[in-house]
Amino acid sequence: MKYIGAHVSVEGGVSTAPGRAHEIGATSFALFTRNPSRWSSPAIKEAEAERFKANCETYGFTPDRILPHDSFLINLGAPDSAKLEMSRRAFLDEINRCSQLGLTMLNFHPGSHLNAIPVDDCLELIADSINRTLEVTEGVKAVIESTAGQGSNLGYSFEHLSAIIDRVEDKSRVGVCIDTCHTFAAGYDLASPQGYEDAWNEFDRVVGFKYLSGMHLNDSKKGRGSRVDRHELIGQGTLGEEFFARLMADPRMDNIPLILETPDPTQWPREIEWLNSMCK
Ligand SMILES: [Zn+2]
Ligand SMILES: [Zn+2]
Repeated sequence: MKYIGAHVSVEGGVSTAPGRAHEIGATSFALFTRNPSRWSSPAIKEAEAERFKANCETYGFTPDRILPHDSFLINLGAPDSAKLEMSRRAFLDEINRCSQLGLTMLNFHPGSHLNAIPVDDCLELIADSINRTLEVTEGVKAVIESTAGQGSNLGYSFEHLSAIIDRVEDKSRVGVCIDTCHTFAAGYDLASPQGYEDAWNEFDRVVGFKYLSGMHLNDSKKGRGSRVDRHELIGQGTLGEEFFARLMADPRMDNIPLILETPDPTQWPREIEWLNSMCK
């Protein structure tokens, strides 16, 4: 079963997200549980958390179909110790918010070295940040998103993802989210039939499908290997319809949240419908 949804707005509070997802025909969704471009956000009121849980139940969204996304400011591999401390504090708050909402996963961008420290040192910092957070929390899995490798962002190669996972002590609480636009822009040839097979075989060999906890479904404005993160509507970018049809027929992506982050929310109902029609 494919759980196809989108990253919906939380305008009016987190409890509005499940209804919004239901309205567009989604069977999964993503959301921000705090303002993604601010360091501090007011706590979620207990009544609002209860409304969120009740709405999830009403519309049939179990925690395995919900993939919250963390704040864009957080850099778990920040070379500057003050920034790193702020990031770790915010990340812990993100995990705690997930717990409060009864959620079991948190999707995040691994981090950036900002050309100040070697790649491997940055990967080490990221893993250390994850370990520290997991140690003092329970029940929420840290889901590392693949990136396009823009600027000094790490996580664009499967090797980066596995280097982080290798250093995480509790492997049962770490996973990955492959963003199709990012991974294609990072250089993996998902678009051609042979490239698709090769890329996923490589993913399985280097990372392992058992860690695949979710995906972001985005076409790409820029070409393969561009390292530029620009999402496009499904079928209208350089990945193309055929790729998404192939992905929807692939049982390895069953039973995980598959989240649209395409640029036009008015197109989500149509995109979800089309993706569903391609499922076998
Ligand atoms: Zn993301
Ligand atoms: Zn994404």
